[in-house]
This record gives sequence, structure tokens and C-alpha cells, in this order.
Amino acid sequence: MSQWNSLITVLSEITRKNCIMFVCCPHCGNSHAYIKWGFYSRYLFNDELINIQRFRCDNDLCPCKTFSILPHALLPIIRASLCMLTYILKMYEQGSNIADIVRHTGSNWPRIQRWIAKAFAIRDWFRQEYDIRPSPCLSPGRFWTSLTRDFSWSFYPERFR
Ligand SMILES: [Zn+2]
Repeated sequence: MSQWNSLITVLSEITRKNCIMFVCCPHCGNSHAYIKWGFYSRYLFNDELINIQRFRCDNDLCPCKTFSILPHALLPIIRASLCMLTYILKMYEQGSNIADIVRHTGSNWPRIQRWIAKAFAIRDWFRQEYDIRPSPCLSPGRFWTSLTRDFSWSFYPERFR
């Protein structure tokens, strides 16, 4: 198994295990007044589907009606994890071209182009916001919820609700 495929397998397993967690609205911090509010599906890195629980926040003062808590290592919207982006960026900066990376990852050209651009943007964002580089982050713990919330605000403000 290639290093890339091992990474995908490990990340998918980690994400599956992380699905049960402490429930707390990431927008207002309420961890008492909420109800389960359906599911949506996300693809794991190995293309399996998992259900993500959505919650309705019942705090009247909360700016948002619903929230979900993404299990590490899923990022909002994007299909790649931080590790995968870091991996690809490293290949790119060490001289691999897009064709090499497409071949190595079994992916496609537009996606790898998008991921490289996103990897640069995320690295800049990390340096500004957190003063750290995107580490492999295999076990960020509770940090993940605030990180994914900040990530949504920064990269997908139009989707934020
Ligand atoms: Zn709330």
C-alpha cells in the first residue's frame, strides 16, 4: 500500500471513531438546550459515506439555528483533510508537478490544483490565526470543534449559518 493510501485509510478510521463526541453549539457555547435535527452525509477520504448528526440550538440568543460537529479529521466543505493537504503541498514544494501528484494520489487534475491552492491558503491562515503550521494533527482533541468553526468563518462565510 502506498504512503498516500495508508494515510487515507488511517484518516477514515480516525474520523469514524471520532463521530461520538461532546455536543456543544460552536456558535454560542450552549451544551444543554438542543435537539437532534436530522443528518447529512459526508464522504470519508476513502469515499465511504458517513452520517453527520445535525442539531438545533434552542438558545434564543444564539445567532444560529442549527449546528453540527464535524468529527476530526473532516474539514467543512472540502474533501481533503489537513494531513492530506499538507502531504500534497510538501510534494509540490519538493518539486513534484501536478501530473506527478495526480498519478501518486490517483486523483484528478482540477482537484489537485484546487487542493494545492487551498493548502497554501490554509497554511497562511494558520500562521496568522494560530501561529503554527498545519501539523499532521492526528489527535487535536477538543481543539477540532473551534478549528472547524473558525475555518468555516474564514473560508466559507457565505455558507456559515
Ligand atoms: Zn447556539
